[in-house]
Amino acid sequence: MRVPYESVIGLEVHCQLETRSKLFSPCPLEIGAAPNTRTDAYTWGLPGTLPVLNRAAVDAAIALALATGCTVHRRSRFARKHYFYPDLPKGYQITQADEPYATAGHVEIPGFTTAEGDPWRVRLQRIHLEEDAGKNVHAGRRSGVDYNRAGAPLVEIVSEPDLRTAEQAAAYMRELRTLVRALGISQANMEEGTLRCDANVSLRPVGTETLGVRCEIKNVNSFRFLARAIEAEIRRQTDMLGHGETITRCTLGYDHEHDRLFVMRSKEDAADYRYMPDPDLPPLHIDDAWVDAVRERLPELPAARRDRWRGLGVAADDAAALAAERDLADYFDGVLRTAGESRARRAAGWVLTELLGRLAGAPIAACPVTPAMLGELVVLVEDGTVSGRSAKDVLALCWAGEGSPAAIVEARGLRQVSDTGPIDALVAEVLAEHPRQLEALRAGKTNLEGFFVGQIMKRSRGQANPKLVAERLALAIAAGTVGEEGA
Ligand code: ADP
Ligand code: MG
Repeated sequence: MRVPYESVIGLEVHCQLETRSKLFSPCPLEIGAAPNTRTDAYTWGLPGTLPVLNRAAVDAAIALALATGCTVHRRSRFARKHYFYPDLPKGYQITQADEPYATAGHVEIPGFTTAEGDPWRVRLQRIHLEEDAGKNVHAGRRSGVDYNRAGAPLVEIVSEPDLRTAEQAAAYMRELRTLVRALGISQANMEEGTLRCDANVSLRPVGTETLGVRCEIKNVNSFRFLARAIEAEIRRQTDMLGHGETITRCTLGYDHEHDRLFVMRSKEDAADYRYMPDPDLPPLHIDDAWVDAVRERLPELPAARRDRWRGLGVAADDAAALAAERDLADYFDGVLRTAGESRARRAAGWVLTELLGRLAGAPIAACPVTPAMLGELVVLVEDGTVSGRSAKDVLALCWAGEGSPAAIVEARGLRQVSDTGPIDALVAEVLAEHPRQLEALRAGKTNLEGFFVGQIMKRSRGQANPKLVAERLALAIAAGTVGEEGA
């Protein structure tokens, strides 16, 4: 009998904090600068240099800990992690080992719920601060090292093994990206390496609690490849267990071109990092005042924004899409300020469908229609001033720079006709022109109502209020007056 297995995944995520200078030196930090142009004596590990902790990096790290419900420890400590490699001039990396600054938080991933319907919660073991290493660059047969990012501040976010599928793991990473971007503490770009992740994967028989032997997939550089690498690893382990083999602990790389994993290190050559407290750095003391000051500056978090919008009637998927990027979320709140919260559901549709459709992937900053303008348009549609059909034309004109939606509606005569007078006249005209259909309708062919509404709307060039047309048509038919006039 084949045992069904369940996959268990825990992620170690590195996120580069966007500070002006590095974690332990005043050396400027700049992503995308020419190689080795953002270095100093400390970065090179020259004798006589000493680390001085960057306060702004700690600020950002505290913000992340608060946003994930972690306990921020009043005292934490830096340690040296030794290894011998060209990307590390000092021969050791300064990190936090036994005493991280934050522990025991959680992140909820949108779109995933437990069997009981509760939000899927990924517990965080810890978050710690550390400096980044340099980056090995391979060009043809030559290799070099770029030390620009050596010494850059990183937070490492270590989850509990609370993820069960590759999609969940990718969604968790996306949520972390959304969160750190909302906090304004990182660009969190996987392609550029400011957001990186190692995925630990194991299997266990369904229904058991003990964790299986895990393998760790190193540094995958996109959400898509992360999901694929985890899927490949789940397949590999399932095959092995299916053949009665045992899993041995190892570190894997992912070759996305061939969708294949390769072994980088096995258990035997696991590194001994010789951790020790860094004698050059005093313990890090974070007092209540510091934590309170950071807490006070926290923006509204993505999860809170989603909840608030859902409370206004916005669909869950729409709320998640709107909260994913801070610019878009701010834009939507701007639309709501003009449109009013009661129109949130409709406003979400306009932003996600019409506006993003027109932007076609361009950043929201490139949008020529301001949130106030879109809000005005939503009001015009909702109160019946323009029909949904005309509103799309109004948006196109507004996009082209013809002014505000209200001004365009007036200038172009696009106001929806909601007066009974002109509509009754159109109803009478159209009924008189189609006596046969009218007779059939009166005899019970009610599907002809649609035909008449269509004819009347056409004659109004789309500007009649369709609801009112249907109402006046029904009245006219019931009264029978129009038929007699036309006879
Ligand atoms: P290490 O110190 O070797 O990196 P940790 O115990 O800190 O190991 O765990 C690192 C990551 O691996 C965490 O995200 C954790 O959730 C995950 N992890 C640990 N054991 C397993 C397992 N058996 N299966 C899947 N993930 C695991
Ligand atoms: Mg680890």
